[in-house]
Amino acid sequence: MNKCWICSEKEANSREHVIKSSNLNMVFGNIVHESPIFTHRNGRDRKLNSKNNINAKFELSICQRCNDTLTQPHDLSWDKLSCFLLDNEALLRRKRRLNLSECFGDKVKTNLLNCRLFLAKILGCIICESNNDFFMSDLARSIRENEEISNLHFSINIVDSNKVNDYCELSHLEVIENGNIPIWVSFIYLLNGVAIKVVYCVDNGLVKSKMIGPHHDSLYTYIDKI
Ligand SMILES: [Zn+2]
Repeated sequence: MNKCWICSEKEANSREHVIKSSNLNMVFGNIVHESPIFTHRNGRDRKLNSKNNINAKFELSICQRCNDTLTQPHDLSWDKLSCFLLDNEALLRRKRRLNLSECFGDKVKTNLLNCRLFLAKILGCIICESNNDFFMSDLARSIRENEEISNLHFSINIVDSNKVNDYCELSHLEVIENGNIPIWVSFIYLLNGVAIKVVYCVDNGLVKSKMIGPHHDSLYTYIDKI
């Protein structure tokens, strides 16, 4: 029995969505048999007739309790932020400024922490799926105890070039090592033209200089037609 990487107690009997199911809804609308979307995963194209298709999810790595009850507040904050970003994508592209109080009201700090913890869950699932355990104990403890992860950062980037529509992507994990010891892991979570870059780095001084950069080596893509 594989244990849940978050609580290390219960059986890993639940699959986290690679792209959150509410985000799939925001980008693609209702996904049904008559209007499927397509995902490219592990070198193959697969049809998704439902947002709950197994190919829309990671391998089993967490338990139902951690996926539902424990991380629900984090998921809800992420829903708020991602919905705000998608709704205001054109405006953000023009203004290049983001006022988070327009999204979270007077609860910016709490919601931002929740968003970081949501992204920590995705990061942990990606690391798990890559058969590594980099930084997992820190990610898991912060999620369980609802605590800040001082080494985890995310940036919101509006994709400049071509307008991207009806498209989601989760990049491969980028790993930087120093003498075989990982010091940096990062990935990009792309929703239409909104790219969220997530970094866990042991040296926070490195983060600013490398936070924004090209990274299009995709692990999963979701598109509405191929
Ligand atoms: Zn658990």
